Amino acid sequence: MIRLRAKEMENMQIQHNNEIITIYIIRSRRKTACLRILPDGRAEVRGPKLMSDAFVREFVQAKADWILKKRREAAEYQSKKRIHTYQSGDVFLYLGMEYVLSIKAAGRKRMELAKKEEERLLLLYTVSFETKGIEKQIKEWYKKQAEEYITKQVEYYAQMIPGKYESITMENRKGRWGSCSSKGGLTFNWRLMMAPPEIIDYVVVHELCHLEHMDHSPSYWRAVESVLPDYKLRKEWLKENGISLNL
Ligand SMILES: [Zn+2]
Repeated sequence: MIRLRAKEMENMQIQHNNEIITIYIIRSRRKTACLRILPDGRAEVRGPKLMSDAFVREFVQAKADWILKKRREAAEYQSKKRIHTYQSGDVFLYLGMEYVLSIKAAGRKRMELAKKEEERLLLLYTVSFETKGIEKQIKEWYKKQAEEYITKQVEYYAQMIPGKYESITMENRKGRWGSCSSKGGLTFNWRLMMAPPEIIDYVVVHELCHLEHMDHSPSYWRAVESVLPDYKLRKEWLKENGISLNL
């Protein structure tokens, strides 16, 4: 796919209920017109080369309420994203709980979770207080926790799910929580360590069930459901809150 640079992208504005909707128009060899809302809230119309501006205007106007609703949902979703400073006081999620970062000087790097009165702390010992280094140390720590924790969960659930996995790899790919290759290679996003345990279990079971069913067919979902009867709730949580598991 070739991406158009912003300045080459044609756009059009329409007004609806006192709100301005900007529509990006992409004409190509496709035969029919379609409208979609991008994750950042932008509306995009794709259609045939000969699609007229008047057609686009009418097409969009008819769906304006839907666009505004989707746009509000996109803004709400984006607002769940956490902003990290990587300085003492910054708040991090770990297994669904909030921990306050506390950076301390030490002769060697290490990290641990602690509890002081009612506050949960993420203690970080470091040689240098440089932000980039602290960010790296935190990310490496999460990855290491994931290697231990998620591997343990895979081993547990593998006993009740048919198929055999070959390997477990931790990665950090945007928009992907896990995957299962045809050779049985499982990968998990280590940012899952920020999610509540039941959400991590859902991703583990989701991928393990792909060992036998390499698709999302009804029989695949029945296999998931036989292990986690409430999987739909967990799946929905991840869809709605996945963006908050950012570092
Ligand atoms: Zn899947």
